[in-house]
Amino acid sequence: MTGETLQRPFQTFTASGADYEIMGSEVPATDIDENVIESIEALANQQRLEILVALAERKYNEEAETSALSFSHLYDAVSCQSTSQFSYHLKQLVGRFVVETEDGYQLTYAGDKVRRALFSGLYESSHTFGPVAVKGACPNCGARSLDAYSADGQFTVDCRECATPIVSDLFPQSIAQERSTQEIVDSFGYGIWAKYVFVRGGVCPECYGLLDTTVQQLERGEHFMSVSINECRRCWFTVSIPIDVVVAFHPVVIEAFWQHGVSLLDIPLWELFEYTTTEHWNTAVRAEEPFAASVEIVLDETEIRLSVDHQPSVTVVEKTVRESSDGCGE
Ligand SMILES: [Zn+2]
Ligand SMILES: [Zn+2]
Repeated sequence: MTGETLQRPFQTFTASGADYEIMGSEVPATDIDENVIESIEALANQQRLEILVALAERKYNEEAETSALSFSHLYDAVSCQSTSQFSYHLKQLVGRFVVETEDGYQLTYAGDKVRRALFSGLYESSHTFGPVAVKGACPNCGARSLDAYSADGQFTVDCRECATPIVSDLFPQSIAQERSTQEIVDSFGYGIWAKYVFVRGGVCPECYGLLDTTVQQLERGEHFMSVSINECRRCWFTVSIPIDVVVAFHPVVIEAFWQHGVSLLDIPLWELFEYTTTEHWNTAVRAEEPFAASVEIVLDETEIRLSVDHQPSVTVVEKTVRESSDGCGE
C-alpha cells in the first residue's frame, strides 16, 4: 500500500505514510491552452530571465523612487548585443510577466513569482543530506528512532524501527542555503505548520485553490490511524495529517501544552508524536461513516476529553484540572 503516493502524479506532503484512497482525481481544473505554452516558451532565454531579475532588483530597492525601469536603464542591466535584440526579448515578456507603465517597465505578479521560483532554486539539481537522527516519535510504532534525510527534491523523516516514512515534504533548494543540517530540519518543522494553517482554512498551501477534505482510516501494522486527507481541486497538491494533530491545535489543548512548558508551534510535527503515542493520549474511533472519534489527553494535572467529527472539527467535551499532584501526566 505504501507505494501508492509515489505513483501519484502530483506533489505530496504527507505526515503519516501515504496509503490513502485516491479521491476525485479527475481531469485537472485547468486545460492547458496555447497561452500557457507560449508563456513558458517566453521564459526560456537567458536575457529574458535577466530582465526579470533586473526589474526585481529595482522593485526591492528601497531607495529607488519607483519600481519601474526605463527602456534604457533596463537595457543597461541586461547582457544584450543590440537594442533591437533587447527590444525583441522584452516584447516577449510584456503582457504576461512585465507591464509597461508611464514610469517604465515593471514586474507583474506572475513575473515576480517566476523570479522567486528561480531564486528558490526550484530548477536546480537537488541538495542531499543525511540520514541524521532527529528527536521525536513514530506515530505508527511509537519508537523514538527517527531519521531525517533529503533526496530527489524530497525531505523525509523515517522510522528506523518499522521502516515507515512518516513525514515527507517538498525540498526547495533555498532551504539548504546558509543553514546547518539541524537548521534545515527545524525549518521543515515550521514549514509543515505553515501548510497546516492553510489546510485549516480549506486553502491549498501551493496555489490557494479549494481543498476537499476526507477523514480516512489507514492501516498501520496492527492498528488503524485516522488521517485527514486534504486534496486541492485545482493543482492536486495533497496534505495528509493525523487527526491527533488536528486535535492538538484546539486552543484548549494548545493551552494545556503551554502549561506543560511546550509551545506547540515551536516543536516539529515528529516531536508532537512523542505525546500522541503515549498512554496519556487516547484516540477512540466511534464511527467510520461519517467519521467520529473521542480523544482523551492527560497533560500533568489537566485532563481533556474532546470529540472529532468528519469535517474534521474538534469540540471540547470536558476539561478538568486536578488540584493534587499525585502522579498522572507526562
Ligand atoms: Zn515506527
Ligand atoms: Zn492547489
